Formats: sequence, C-alpha cells, structure tokens
Amino acid sequence: MRCTPEAIAAALGDIDARNLRRRRELAPDGRLNFCSNDYLGLATDERLSSAMAEAARQLGAGAGASHLISGHSAEHDALERELAEFTRRERALVFSTGYMANLGVLSALADRHAVLIADELNHASLIDAVRLVRSSSNHRYPHGDAAEATCLLDTHAPTSEVNGSGTFLITDGVFSMDGDLAPLPELADAVARHHGWLIVDDAHGLGVVGETGRGSCELHGLSARHVPVLIGTFGKAFGTFGAFIAGDADVIELIMQRARTYIYTTALPPAVAAATRMALAIVHEESWRRDHLNSLISRFREGATSRGIHLMHSTTPIQPMVLGSAEAALSASAKLSAAGFRVTAIRPPTVPLGTARLRITLSAAHSESQIDQLLVALEAAI
Ligand SMILES: *Cc1c(COP(=O)(O)O)cnc(C)c1O
Repeated sequence: MRCTPEAIAAALGDIDARNLRRRRELAPDGRLNFCSNDYLGLATDERLSSAMAEAARQLGAGAGASHLISGHSAEHDALERELAEFTRRERALVFSTGYMANLGVLSALADRHAVLIADELNHASLIDAVRLVRSSSNHRYPHGDAAEATCLLDTHAPTSEVNGSGTFLITDGVFSMDGDLAPLPELADAVARHHGWLIVDDAHGLGVVGETGRGSCELHGLSARHVPVLIGTFGKAFGTFGAFIAGDADVIELIMQRARTYIYTTALPPAVAAATRMALAIVHEESWRRDHLNSLISRFREGATSRGIHLMHSTTPIQPMVLGSAEAALSASAKLSAAGFRVTAIRPPTVPLGTARLRITLSAAHSESQIDQLLVALEAAI
C-alpha cells in the first residue's frame, strides 16, 4: 500500500465493503456479557482489586524497569513459585503479555534450522512467533489433525536427536475461537518419537479445564515430560493481565537469558502480580466456580439442542455458533445487543473466510436463568 491519504481511505473502504470494520464499544455497558474471557468471574472480584490496590500502595503503580534491571519484585518472585507449583513444573517465568511470551519462547529455543510444526488454527501470537524464527522448515497441519501432524513429523523431523536443530510442535491447548481441545496425548506421542518438543499455549485451559483447573495437561494426564514448555496467560480465567511460561529449570533459565520480549520490556506492575496471586489462590480454593461453569455449559448445550440451535463441538466455556458470512454474524450480534446481550461477531481474518461466528463464552459469574434468557434471545436472533 502506498502511504497516500487516498490509498489509506481506499484500504478503509475495502474493509467496510467486506463487512470487516471492527469497532470498539465501551465496557461495561449494562448488557449481559457473553463474550469475555473472564471464565471464572474473577476480573471483577473484590478480593483481586483489593490485593491490587494494597500492593500498589506499597510498591507503586509500575515496576519501573525490566525484570533484569530492577523491575523484578518479591510479588513477581512469589507468583512464579506459585505458578510452578500450580503447573507442577520446576520453574515459571512471568511475562508482560501472552503475545510476548509466545514470541519469546520460540525465538529463545528455536533457530533458523529448526523444524516447526503447528496447528493451522493456532493463536495469532504463535503464528507470529513461528514467523519470527524464519525457519524454512515450517509446516501447518489441518486443525486438530494428529495423524497429519505425525505425517509432517515423519517427513520433516530429523531421525535422531543429534541431527538438526530441534523439532517443535506448537499448539493451543484449548482453541480460542473454536473452544475445542488439541489432541495432546497423540501429539505428545508423535513428538516424543522424534525427540522433539511439544509447546502448548493453554491460555484458555488453565483455571478452567482439568479436575483442579490445572488445564489441558491435567485433563489429559500429561506431565512436564510430555509438555516441556507450557504457556499460560492471566487475562483469561485468572481475571488479570500478563502471562507465564513454565518448564524445567534450565529451559526456563535459557528463555530468561535469551527471550528478547522478556529482556527488553518493562516488568508487569507488581500490583498485577499480587492480584494474580490472589486469583491463583481462589482458583485453588473455590472449585465451585468450575463446577458451576460446567453445569452452565451443559445447560447451554442442552438448551441449544432442544431449540435446534447448532453449536460447534466444544466442552469448554467457548461455545461458538458458526453463521458463515460476516454480515450474518453482525446481524445476529446486533439483534442480541438490542435484546441486552453482548456477543461479539468474530469475522475473518480472526477466523477462516466463510466461518464468521458468534463466539459465545460462558462464565462462572453467569446464573442459570441468564443462560436460559440467552437461549431465548439467540433463537430469535439467528
Ligand atoms: C489471549 C491469548 C494470548 C495472548 O495473551 P495476552 O496476554 O492477551 O497477550 C496468547 N495465546 C492465546 C491462545 C490466547 O488466547
């Protein structure tokens, strides 16, 4: 694109013509929110805001520097220890965002000769992380297809550990726009046969899935041996902001030494770390949040089936309904809005062309009757 005012206006006109203009709307706004990632209802929990306020009063509003200069506080340190315990890994490293964690982990561990194999529906930050490595051996398999992933490994991965620069299989644990689970046990098996690394971004799984909320690894009974690099974010179920990577101590140390998105950025405000510690404690203690959420998910799916509303196959709080065109998704979203429900239309390029959808997300903060009201409104909107 040429940088003339005409070219910019034309590019915006093109976005409008395809119904792809995105708009921000202020939150909260009185509508019932069915599109946040606040799965456990912790973002507005008073205990988190108190922990944040208290820490801010003691430690200030900001970290003041990057972690390796003077920005690393006792709150970050304690949070990292608690995260390591929570994920049952030797060590965790806090990043300022999940986007940065994903860019950092791959650029720290993989070089241009690495073999990178990724699910085609991985989160944008994982896609960019792969791009940043600039390996010529980078491959995508059809979404969730472990057999195809295995084929790619068989074709491209070096046959022994000593050959090559490492093989990495990279996937979301719970897919952000589909809500389905990666076939982690099959992927872990295939990667292990090739002495590769399985990297799992469990942003939407941690806190939510697994018996005690320890995420996709817990759900599938996988340990650090199977998933040596685990990424989590705080902006979803934990209700705050930031991210972490967990793994063996040496792996984490190497990431800390090498990841430019860790080294050259300001540390998370310590007050955010303090609020996240509170969230982690609540995730531990209040298992009723997961129980309630799971019962809402069942209620919603059963209600949808009985009304002939077709949902994607998902057992998580992400319950998308594909409507096809961007126009159809926008129109349904507008009708829901008029009825008092906030459900954003998700359009390309966030999802593949022709699969625009309503991405409905449920939260432990919802009540059963709110789910029933949503179902009535949905039936009328589509
Ligand atoms: C939200 C998300 C991220 C980005 O995390 P931020 O902390 O919001 O930058 C990364 N991966 C997945 C799968 C996500 O859903």
